[in-house]
Amino acid sequence: MENFSPANCIQDLQYFGEFGGVNPSISDSSTYTFLSAKTMSDTFEGNIEGCYLYSRHSSPSNLYLDQALAAMEGTETANVSASGMGAITPTLMQLCSAGDHIVSSRTIYGGTYAFLKNLIPRFGVKTTFVDITKLDVVEAAITPATKVIYCETVSNPLLEVADIRGLSRLAKKYNLKLVVDNTFSPLSVSPAKLGADIVIHSLTKYINGSSDTVGGVTCASKEFINSLKNVNSGASMLLGPTMDSLRSASVMKNLRTLHIRIKQHSHNAHVLADKFEQDGLKTVYPGLRSHPSHELYKTMINPEYGYGGMLTIDVGSLAKANELMELMQQRNLGYLAVSLGFYKTLFSAPGTSTSSEIPLYEQATMGLTDGLIRFSIGLDNDIERTYQMMKACMIELEVLETQNISL
Ligand SMILES: *Cc1c(COP(=O)(O)O)cnc(C)c1O
Repeated sequence: MENFSPANCIQDLQYFGEFGGVNPSISDSSTYTFLSAKTMSDTFEGNIEGCYLYSRHSSPSNLYLDQALAAMEGTETANVSASGMGAITPTLMQLCSAGDHIVSSRTIYGGTYAFLKNLIPRFGVKTTFVDITKLDVVEAAITPATKVIYCETVSNPLLEVADIRGLSRLAKKYNLKLVVDNTFSPLSVSPAKLGADIVIHSLTKYINGSSDTVGGVTCASKEFINSLKNVNSGASMLLGPTMDSLRSASVMKNLRTLHIRIKQHSHNAHVLADKFEQDGLKTVYPGLRSHPSHELYKTMINPEYGYGGMLTIDVGSLAKANELMELMQQRNLGYLAVSLGFYKTLFSAPGTSTSSEIPLYEQATMGLTDGLIRFSIGLDNDIERTYQMMKACMIELEVLETQNISL
C-alpha cells in the first residue's frame, strides 16, 4: 500500500472557530435562515453547496467531523450518525431492496447480526452468513440477487481477519458493494485503500475513546453519501439517526488524539497477549504468530499502529470467566463492562453479553466458547505492573492450573 497516513490526514485539517478559536465553532441550531426564498428552494433540491437547511440533513459541526473521518479513511466524504447501528442499518437499507441478498460474515457485532437475521428479512432482504476467512465459501454464497458483501475488518468477538483485498476482488467480479465495519481497527487498517466501497465505524469505541457517548459514521463516495441524505429517498435522512452537533464537536476533539491512543492500546495488548500465551492460556490476538490470519493481517495494517487493543483468552468455563472478571474489577484492573476502546481496560464474556443475540448452537459452531473473555486493553502506563496483577488474580483462582491440565 502506498504510504497512506491516516493520522497525517487528520492532523492536516485546519479548522478555525467563528472568532478565531482553535476549535471550530459548534453550530447550535436545528434550522437555518435564508436571505432569499429562491436559495431555500434550490437548497431543498440539493443544488447549492454550503447552505444549511435543517440539521437532520447536515449541520456545520457534523460536516467537520464527516470531513475528518473521510480524511482518515481516504474516502471522498462521510456521514456521521447517532450510533454505529445508526450508520450500519441505513447504509444496508440504502443498498438493498426487497428481493435482494447479502453475504455476511457470521462473526459480526451482535446488533448487526440481529438486524440481518431478524429485522431486515421483514423488508424482503435475505442474508447468508459465511466464514468470511474462506474466499471460496464467500464466492459460493453469491447469487444473482446478491448486492452486498458485509464484514468487519477484525471481527467481534473472535478477532477473525477479513481479507479485504480478496473480498474486494470478488465484489468487483460480481458487481457488489463491499461494506466493511472497521470499528476494531481505526488507523491500523484503511479498508477503502484495500478496495472496500464503504467503511463504517461505531465512533462509540476507539474513535471517541472515552465511553461517554454513542456515535457512528459511514465513509464512502459522494454519490453514495448523497443518496443516504437525499430528502426524498435517503435512508439516513428519512430514518433520522442524526448525531447532535454538540456531540460531534466533542468526538472531533477526541479524534485528534486517536493516533497516540491506538499506539498505546496496541502496545499494551501485544505485551499482554505474548505473556498470556507464554503462560499457557489459549489466547487470540492478531499480533500473535499463532493467530491463523497473522501473516495476512501484517500485509493489511499501517504498521506503526500495531495489531490493536483487543484480545481474548479462554479460561475453560463461564463460571471461571465470571470469577476472574469480578476479581480483576475488584483489584481495579478494569471494568466488567461491554464495549471497547476506553482508556481503562474493559472485559466481558461475549457468549452471555455482546453476542447473546447469536443462538447457542451457532456460537458453538463458530468457536465462541463459554469460557471466552474479551478484553479491550486500556492505556495503562505500566503494562508490566498490570500483567503481574492480572496474573496474581489468575493464580489465586487457579485459572492457569486448569489450563495446563486441559492442554
Ligand atoms: C459497538 C459496535 C457496533 C454498534 O455500534 P453502536 O455505536 O453501539 O450502535 C457495530 N459494530 C461493531 C464492530 C461494534 O463494536
